[in-house]
Amino acid sequence: MSDSSASASRTPVSAPKPTIGIVGLGLIGGSLGLDLRQRGYRVLGLSRRDRTCERAQERGAVDQASTDPSIMATADLIFLCTPLDVLESTVKTLRPHLRDETVLTDVGSVKQPIVEAIAPLWPNFVAGHPMAGNSDQGIEAAQLDLFADRPYVVTPIAQTSEAAIAQVEAVAKALGSKLYRCTPAEHDRAVAWISHLPVMVSTSLIQACRREQSDAVYELAQQLASSGFRDTSRVGGGNSELGLLMARYNRQALLQSLKDYQATLAGVMAAVEAEDWPQLQATLEQSNGDRPRFL
Ligand code: NAP
Repeated sequence: MSDSSASASRTPVSAPKPTIGIVGLGLIGGSLGLDLRQRGYRVLGLSRRDRTCERAQERGAVDQASTDPSIMATADLIFLCTPLDVLESTVKTLRPHLRDETVLTDVGSVKQPIVEAIAPLWPNFVAGHPMAGNSDQGIEAAQLDLFADRPYVVTPIAQTSEAAIAQVEAVAKALGSKLYRCTPAEHDRAVAWISHLPVMVSTSLIQACRREQSDAVYELAQQLASSGFRDTSRVGGGNSELGLLMARYNRQALLQSLKDYQATLAGVMAAVEAEDWPQLQATLEQSNGDRPRFL
């Protein structure tokens, strides 16, 4: 054995970083691009509008971007970051331009219907969901480190290849995310509780305030609103397109969580109506203990 091969066998050679493709350069796609370029990945972007491609380049979210799907031909791992209702058509448009070994993953907020639609179109598909965001949208809202310390869930099915899952998880790890795996159906039930139900509760809260009879009191309430209202109204006053798509695509799980929420709220109302303060206190204390387990 020559010296050079001996030294090569002692020094582990790290695999080259895959070329990343990002389709849909909005909040999530743009934020992924910013992080991945900073971590040394080559990032190619595809978006619908020229202006978005230009801004993604100016902001440093991509090395190169285009509205022409052929730009994805050299990507090894592609993140689909378009809205839920165009993910399937996005894959159909991309397919003729991709190599068979290219791994596709999505970032959609609902998993079961997406897996059912895309897995038959592209065998090398790994469904995923980074659990991070904010109330803005579009390339201007993209930010660095959006995914750091946040959960990143992958929802493989029986036929998903371990090698493809490993590629997606390696990138999620590079983003600083905490990795989780579960089935698409488990994901959709879990996010109904902690993401989709909160959006509907929060939007209902904002709308309920409109029922105030006095314009003067309604206006006063707006002026007095502070941190409590900011926290509880944030997700209900965010991206309406995303909220609507969550409800459309996760309708069954959302409906079940809304029914359970309605029953819980009825219990709180009954306690207040009956002046059953011990009951209300028990509920509030239980919530005080439960909340840290979610956050
Ligand atoms: P966004 O900021 O609105 O970005 C979506 C991007 O997709 C837009 O910039 C747009 O590009 C492109 N796009 C829209 N319609 C398209 C179409 N018909 N064909 C091709 N491209 C199209 O939305 P986002 O918040 O990043 O959400 C993107 C995905 O992330 C969704 O699937 C969502 O479920 C998921 N997600 C969102 C969050 C969140 O909190 N926001 C969190 C986790 C996952 P142009 O500007 O070029 O038109």
